[in-house]
Amino acid sequence: MRDAEFFRRWMTAAAAVVEREADRLTELDSPIGDADHGSNLLRGFTAVRAALGAEPPGTPGAVLVLAGRTLISTVGGASGPLYGTLLRRTGKELGEAAEVSDEELRKALYAGVGAVAQLGGAAPGDKTMLDALVAGVAALSTSYRASADAAENGARATVPMLARKGRASYLGERSIGHQDPGATSAALLLGALADVADT
Ligand code: ADP
Ligand code: MG
Ligand code: MG
Repeated sequence: MRDAEFFRRWMTAAAAVVEREADRLTELDSPIGDADHGSNLLRGFTAVRAALGAEPPGTPGAVLVLAGRTLISTVGGASGPLYGTLLRRTGKELGEAAEVSDEELRKALYAGVGAVAQLGGAAPGDKTMLDALVAGVAALSTSYRASADAAENGARATVPMLARKGRASYLGERSIGHQDPGATSAALLLGALADVADT
């Protein structure tokens, strides 16, 4: 079973990996976006870490709802509301339980990814974070590590895709040949989950 502390560790690990990879995420957002994805997420997850540290919520659901709300209020770019919705919806699905099972978390994340698809109107194949998230959540029934690997493969699979949503879609054919920054960060977030789940 996973308690609030586990979810705080996940968000802390996510903040750390975003900090390490911020420059690369911004570089990926340069040819097919506006070169701010790394700085957007760095601002957001720094605020998440501060919010969770200031008043640590007592349940898994409350940790994710606070993290999601913080991303929505601190990140101006598209990724803020999208990741914010992912975490908030996942947290709401977890309810008020003090501990949740891996199966409950898997189902909650599935609902969270569905909320991202609904908010952004994107589907797998559109060259967005959903290409990593959908693949990652589908593999969660195997293991957290398998999920992280599937998300990573999902992110790499965006390279030959034509972007149909978000800023990259304005480029049309010229979006082909570049890895999507949001799919890349989504794989990092699921990688952080695998790291904390395995320790
Ligand atoms: P912005 O594009 O507003 O500058 P970011 O650079 O932080 O925001 O995030 C860009 C990422 O957001 C993209 O790489 C893509 O993965 C994701 N994204 C953009 N629009 C959508 C959408 N409609 N659905 C899902 N993901 C999206
Ligand atoms: Mg951007
Ligand atoms: Mg922007």
